Amino acid sequence: MIPTVLPTYNRAPLAFVKGEGSWLIAEDGERYLDLAAGIAVNVLGHAHPALVGALNEQAGRLWHVSNLYRIPEQERLADRLTAETFADTVFFTNSGTEAAELALKMARRYWYDSGTPRPGFVAFEGAFHGRSTGAIAAAGSEKMTKGFGPLMSGFVQVPWGDLDALEAAVSDQTAAVIVEPVQGEGGIRPIPDDDLRRIRAACDRVGALLIFDEVQCGMGRTGRLFAHEWSGVTPDIMMVAKGIGGGFPLGAVLATEKAAAGMTVGTHGSTYGGNPLACAVGTKVMEIVADPAFLAEVTRKAALFRQKLEGLVAAHPAVFSGVRGEGLMLGLVCKVPPAEVVSAGYAQHLLMVPAANEAVRLLPALTISDAEIAEAVVRLDAVATAIEGAASD
Ligand SMILES: *Cc1c(COP(=O)(O)O)cnc(C)c1O
Repeated sequence: MIPTVLPTYNRAPLAFVKGEGSWLIAEDGERYLDLAAGIAVNVLGHAHPALVGALNEQAGRLWHVSNLYRIPEQERLADRLTAETFADTVFFTNSGTEAAELALKMARRYWYDSGTPRPGFVAFEGAFHGRSTGAIAAAGSEKMTKGFGPLMSGFVQVPWGDLDALEAAVSDQTAAVIVEPVQGEGGIRPIPDDDLRRIRAACDRVGALLIFDEVQCGMGRTGRLFAHEWSGVTPDIMMVAKGIGGGFPLGAVLATEKAAAGMTVGTHGSTYGGNPLACAVGTKVMEIVADPAFLAEVTRKAALFRQKLEGLVAAHPAVFSGVRGEGLMLGLVCKVPPAEVVSAGYAQHLLMVPAANEAVRLLPALTISDAEIAEAVVRLDAVATAIEGAASD
């Protein structure tokens, strides 16, 4: 018989009842060190007092009114996001997938309104933009698209990191190029700064828009508020979600005035998107994460974590082959299946996330302490030792 919860997930046999910072407490009272953070969502850890306070305060006043009315909490968060970024305007969604839908619609509409509609989008293989029919068409991998066709047309994917192929694929039929500055699901693969500059130049040559998907790599994770800031390249449209709500469902599309010009009254909407509860929490997250001192701490802790991980890799060459990523968005490159490393982590009470291209993702709360980083590496060492032991049996 089919489970009452539709079985589309491969779930670990663990259920958590409470969270405290970088720790999750299971039903049986056992404590787990959390390097998954709800897949890069809980940027301030679990039950951060400032977020609990912001949520409770808003919950006692007003949850939801719909976008039939002005929502001051939305306006405050939009003001803050535009003040901190390239963007002039923001649309709020409930998820990253919804942000992808609007980003694609916005690009198509921009070209429609210009009088020369363009159907095309160019993306990298290994990308992930969500699970809607548009987002799976953008990413294009068979794993996500099989059986769901006919897909939205117009997308081409070029091999990851192949800038010549990307430049060749971008033409006067390209509405937009869509890329993650650091691929998440694809295995924590950063696009080098020089390549981001070449992508921007390829777009500019034909007027195509550039969409950055910062759903996973944004909101302080790399040590800058948004990952693209390291390169100095700015997009025309940016998708944000995951960390922006700190665990409360919230997403956003940020855009320049020019890119957003086609999105006039009636062209898009959402019942829940940007409701007062989500935006009250999101504003508190922004207040904390956008602080340069907070971001400097992320960079400092990331360097510490990375140095310890390099030592771990050197000590276990049969299990690990390297570390990649930016800031606290780290990929441990594995010589054994990443799912095996994640499973062995459960036995050490350590939570991690598998990814494609041989990577295990380490995406801790940005508030993780130095002592917790040291403890994570001790547990990773035990994970590697257990895998080595199993292989020699
Ligand atoms: C998670 C993710 C999405 C989809 O976000 P949802 O909130 O799951 O819909 C889109 N893009 C990237 C890069 C992601 O990591």
